[in-house]
Amino acid sequence: MTPDEIIRTFDDHYHRLDHSDAPESSLVPPPGDPVLFTTSGMHPLTPYLLGRPHPGGRRLVNVQRCLRTTDLDEVGDRTHLTVFQMLGSWSLGDYDIATSLRWGFDLLTDGYRIPPQRLHATVFGGDDQLGPDETARETWTALGVPVEALGEDNWWSNGPTGPCGPDSEIFVWTGDGPPTGTPSGDARWVEVWNHVQMRYHRHPDGRLTSLPLPSIDTGMGLERLEMVLRGETSVFTGDGLRPWVGAVRDRWDLPETDLRVVADHLRSAVVVLSDGVRPGNTGRGYVLRRLLRRALTVLWRDDPARSLGELPLTGYADTLRRFRRPVDPDPLRELLCDEERRFRELLRRGRPLVDRVRARGPLTERDYHWLHDTHGLPRELVDGLLSDVG
Ligand code: ATP
Ligand code: MG
Repeated sequence: MTPDEIIRTFDDHYHRLDHSDAPESSLVPPPGDPVLFTTSGMHPLTPYLLGRPHPGGRRLVNVQRCLRTTDLDEVGDRTHLTVFQMLGSWSLGDYDIATSLRWGFDLLTDGYRIPPQRLHATVFGGDDQLGPDETARETWTALGVPVEALGEDNWWSNGPTGPCGPDSEIFVWTGDGPPTGTPSGDARWVEVWNHVQMRYHRHPDGRLTSLPLPSIDTGMGLERLEMVLRGETSVFTGDGLRPWVGAVRDRWDLPETDLRVVADHLRSAVVVLSDGVRPGNTGRGYVLRRLLRRALTVLWRDDPARSLGELPLTGYADTLRRFRRPVDPDPLRELLCDEERRFRELLRRGRPLVDRVRARGPLTERDYHWLHDTHGLPRELVDGLLSDVG
């Protein structure tokens, strides 16, 4: 299945079950929202999950572009991207978790044709305040899916206080032979979907009270689902990443992890730019700048002459289409090239400074701070320059 077919199958399944389309939001949350980027399909729907009536009714479905800075260090492994698409379904005080899990199981096994024996679920196993999630466990058991009960891995919250509740994650076996072990003990089980029950409110004193209208939020990563449906070993061979991986690999010889980081960061940067963010020294602009500088630092390690201008527009156009962004790719590439020029210039000025400091001996924390605060040279960049001279 292609990502387009995966999305259509998801939408059709939930439309048949009377869900209506919730509009997709920008990666940039509205003013007043404390977070930098939209991190899940749930994020823009939080007020409705907490009781405000949604114009689309009590059953919703959508696809939402997401960005997770918390996953930056994971990028390069098999399953994490900085920007990705999340397929989501919601019950706003409507149906219960057993229904949500059963409908999810039907979609995975009928709609996507995943053999049921390649599935494994995890559920909340209880803690000192709450018992285990017996409903979820019994639902999976009745469906013939093995279950593992875990602790805080299966407790969703959005901070120390506020809405929270148990969740149930669905894993797909990606190993060669028949499934063995459990999700917590074998990385060949890849998490694809999470069904979250927003049922409680945690107060500042730690107390939990029940929400008047318990809701359900589910989120499934499009790129991960594509990976498991195609029997691929990583998200980087999927349709969404292939144009970037291919274009980078055609031009430059990079180790696999570097190739993944560059492909992910450039693709992510294009989506961020399409939502109006521009490189800068604070907030969102700084996240974007870091993505680009990290990609360039990796690229220039072997050959500082490499330039983003060498990459064709095909990756840009493909990504913008997949993310439903009707934006002209040309000016976006210009923005990336401007940022590259600025960074090159920074390095040109930085190199002699780093050489000078280094001549006095190994760099101290104070040297790093001075290079960063006074000359705008990030640590990663200084380390790169050090290994150049070394
Ligand atoms: P993981 O533990 O694998 O990082 P998670 O628990 O952070 O996943 P959720 O927050 O439950 O994931 O998000 C719901 C779904 O979104 C996941 O099941 C996965 O399919 C997808 N997803 C989460 N983070 C990423 C990412 N960085 N890149 C691609 N897909 C992701
Ligand atoms: Mg995660």
